[in-house]
Amino acid sequence: MSNHRVLKLREAMQQKNVEALFVTSAINRRYLSGFTGSSGYVLVTLNDAYLLTDFRYMTQAPQQAKDFKVVEHAQRVTDTVKELLASANINKLAFEQDDVSFASYSAYAEQLKPIQLVPVSGLVEQLRIIKDAEELKVMQRAADLADSTFNHILGFVKSGMTEREVDLEMEFYMRRHGATCSSFDTIVASGERSAMPHGVASERVIAGNELITFDFGALLDGYCSDLTRTIAIGEPDPKLKEIYNIVLEAQLHALEHIKPGMTGREADALARDIIAKYGYGDMFGHSTGHGLGMEVHENPRLSKLSDDILQPGMVVTVEPGIYIPGLGGVRIEDDIVITETGNAVLTHSSKEFTVLPV
Ligand code: ZN
Ligand code: ZN
Repeated sequence: MSNHRVLKLREAMQQKNVEALFVTSAINRRYLSGFTGSSGYVLVTLNDAYLLTDFRYMTQAPQQAKDFKVVEHAQRVTDTVKELLASANINKLAFEQDDVSFASYSAYAEQLKPIQLVPVSGLVEQLRIIKDAEELKVMQRAADLADSTFNHILGFVKSGMTEREVDLEMEFYMRRHGATCSSFDTIVASGERSAMPHGVASERVIAGNELITFDFGALLDGYCSDLTRTIAIGEPDPKLKEIYNIVLEAQLHALEHIKPGMTGREADALARDIIAKYGYGDMFGHSTGHGLGMEVHENPRLSKLSDDILQPGMVVTVEPGIYIPGLGGVRIEDDIVITETGNAVLTHSSKEFTVLPV
């Protein structure tokens, strides 16, 4: 018996004349098999699907990877792979070139002789781009948790706290509500630091009359959310309020028009053109969005260079921003799923300009 992900993978393998694929990426292994252990490999042939792991997981692995033949591998996993391939008369093995280090490749090549190793790219990742109904349910829960975390933090953050204190409270909140951890290093960027698109929370003390950007997400049951909101504590410089409204207009415009069939470049331009029209094009130095799933940055990309075609089932972020060095910055980010006719937004935190008392 095989699950639908393995069946789809086999179609992709056949198109590339791949008879056997050795999956070393832990995320791809989990995606295909459901096995969450820290160590293991998936070997898929056109007839069989194996999960190879060690003795520590011989109880857990068969429970999680129900559609796989679970094999306790030899000290060297390559000895087991060699045996399984020999019994199926397979002498070529594809491996994930984006995941295997040169050192591992050299060892595999030596140990697997005379089996020939063939590098492949993106076979599993390409399946992961389109989320199925089961994945979308988990992603909605991860998005909901990001929303409730933001709501919680609005009642927590005060001037006089350090960014780190706020970051820790967010981390505790997410984990207390079911997250494994945050899906990436939480950005809490206040005052001038909000002009840094990747201002990971620091020891800076949050003052008054300034902006704070929160960019964070929860890793929940293997899937990420990614949410950004910018708020004010006290009355910030009027210029910042002005750029807030421009970023919001650009973000809402993109959300309104992103639909299947569009390229990543066209989706990016929806937001970028509005920011450029107001004269801030040079201050929006990153792309409008990225795919989201088991990893926080996946395909497709919504960028000036992206030829990716948006398709129903893709989950992407929409996150334009404007950054004025020395003054501050604004970014607003939601997660959306592309639908048959347009898109549906997964994150729902308010985007009205929020001013907390100093
Ligand atoms: Zn983000
Ligand atoms: Zn993002």
